Amino acid sequence: MTARQLPVASPRQVRRAAAVLIRRDARAFTTLIVLNALAAAAGLVSPWLLGRIVDAVGAGEGTRTVDRYALVIVVCALAQFLLTRQARFVGHRFGERTSARIREQLVDRVLALPASAVERAGTGDLAARGTADVPEVSTTLRDAGPDVFIATVQIVFVLGAVFALDVRLGVCGVLGLLGIGFATRWYLRRAHGDYLAEGAANSAMAEMLSATASGARTVEAFGLQERRVAACDEAVEHSRRTRTRTLFLRSVLFPAVDVSYVVPVVAVLLVGGALLDRGAVSLGTVVSCALYLRQLDTPLDSILRWVDQLQSSGASFARVEGLGQEPAADPGPGRFPAGDLIEVTGARYAYDGGRDVLHGVDLTVRPGERLALVGPSGAGKSTLGRLLAGIDRPHTGEVTVGGVPIAALGPDELRRQVVLVTQEHHVFADTVRDNLRIAAPAATDDQLRAALAAVGAEWVDELPGGLDTELGTGAGATRTDGARSQQLALARVVLADPHTLILDEATALLDPATARHTERALAAVLEGRTVIAIAHRLHTARDADRVAVLDDGRLTELGTHDELVARGGAYAGLWRSWHGGEPPTRAPHPRPPGDQADSITL
Ligand code: ATP
Repeated sequence: MTARQLPVASPRQVRRAAAVLIRRDARAFTTLIVLNALAAAAGLVSPWLLGRIVDAVGAGEGTRTVDRYALVIVVCALAQFLLTRQARFVGHRFGERTSARIREQLVDRVLALPASAVERAGTGDLAARGTADVPEVSTTLRDAGPDVFIATVQIVFVLGAVFALDVRLGVCGVLGLLGIGFATRWYLRRAHGDYLAEGAANSAMAEMLSATASGARTVEAFGLQERRVAACDEAVEHSRRTRTRTLFLRSVLFPAVDVSYVVPVVAVLLVGGALLDRGAVSLGTVVSCALYLRQLDTPLDSILRWVDQLQSSGASFARVEGLGQEPAADPGPGRFPAGDLIEVTGARYAYDGGRDVLHGVDLTVRPGERLALVGPSGAGKSTLGRLLAGIDRPHTGEVTVGGVPIAALGPDELRRQVVLVTQEHHVFADTVRDNLRIAAPAATDDQLRAALAAVGAEWVDELPGGLDTELGTGAGATRTDGARSQQLALARVVLADPHTLILDEATALLDPATARHTERALAAVLEGRTVIAIAHRLHTARDADRVAVLDDGRLTELGTHDELVARGGAYAGLWRSWHGGEPPTRAPHPRPPGDQADSITL
């Protein structure tokens, strides 16, 4: 497993979250309890009256008494049917409303997740929580929850009735149920952990497969096919093992329980028979108790049918709730950047507890300046770019904008300060207007058109629906090529209007003609902003106000192009070799597929 999965809520947090959800719909929940209790009470009448009928017939009473009892049985059965139906209806509505709340909460939490947390976890984990765990929880709330609730109330009432008729027979019934109790306890002890492991293995498998598919070109380019296939096989095998484990639990529980059903009835008939012989109990009471215990079949079946679902959905709910445990960005009370000055002080950074890749970088970026970051491949340029863009936070030292740590700013505030522009851009399956409004939800159509004009995207006016044109790959949607997608992304930058832009290979993957076109649009976007460019081609550095040279995670040189060339150090060497036509940097280091170095892309 390469990705660090998102947090999972503890059982206590899950219980608290469930209590909050119930409180939010307390009226429906109370109605549910009352209806179920009434339905269960109505269900108790028939076995008791059947016992009375047996005793009445034994005592030689006439058919009128039997008819009266029979009529009450019919009325109670009808009442039970209607009450159960209504309870189910209320229960399902409660379940639907609650699962809608969980879905809405999930969307809010996913959107509030720090970009770095999503990157580390990978899209597989998030996708699995949204597409597998939420439906699992919804099924429980809609179907399993109400059914189990009704069944539990019925069991409590039935056992209460047996005890009320005869305590000794009640004890027999409860002892007879111990087998089911032991089997279920054995199962529950193992199930939570095993279902969590199954969920985690599914997420890891989804992540591994999607990362391999999306990084297919890189895999081919670096000849990593065998390693990736082996890693995928391992993830699939791990997922299979965890599923087999939960299957084993079910295959022990269900047969054990099936056998245990008849035990309480047999125990009551044997003991009841002995008591009847001694005249310690009436035949009617024994019959009523045996009928009551036979009635337990249905609710027990219902609980055990769903117990598996409850376990796996408990684990799913813990994973859904876990998203709320990831600490959100927090600049501290009332702290807003005072000014545009960006300062890096003593910044050290390591990926996921590995070795430091930045070793105490100090750098001040003045408002309005153009700063080029140069250095050999693997020197830490992109990593420093991520710290400057607030995607990651140094483990030691600070990166601040206007005196406030950048990584602590919420997404909206961060977007107003700094935006990282990379080669990755995304066009959402939505209208042009909504694609642009992601960056500025309150922007008017005129502002959207001005932003499009600034990046040379007048082609939008020629689209049949203008700003209302649906983009994407679906039927009836307009596709956008690389250049147009990049223009839309840059128009978003114009709308977000940050004072600082960080450019990391913004045009690197485009063909030369498209790149030229895009660079013109980019030039319009850079106008009047602070620009930090991770320079892969040294002419970018020559045109910059200052050049910062990184080598092995350290800032080794800082000054204007002319000063650094005159100094004759590392930059001068790079410049000479580049100018002389030789490659300016060492060969790029391979990254694992799925590792998306850049996440805030507009
Ligand atoms: P390049 O010019 O090739 O992009 P760079 O100067 O931008 O290189 P970085 O990408 O910042 O360098 O990498 C600095 C170090 O951090 C390298 O040793 C790299 O292998 C490591 N690194 C980068 N990204 C990750 C990651 N996601 N997980 C683990 N290590 C990483």
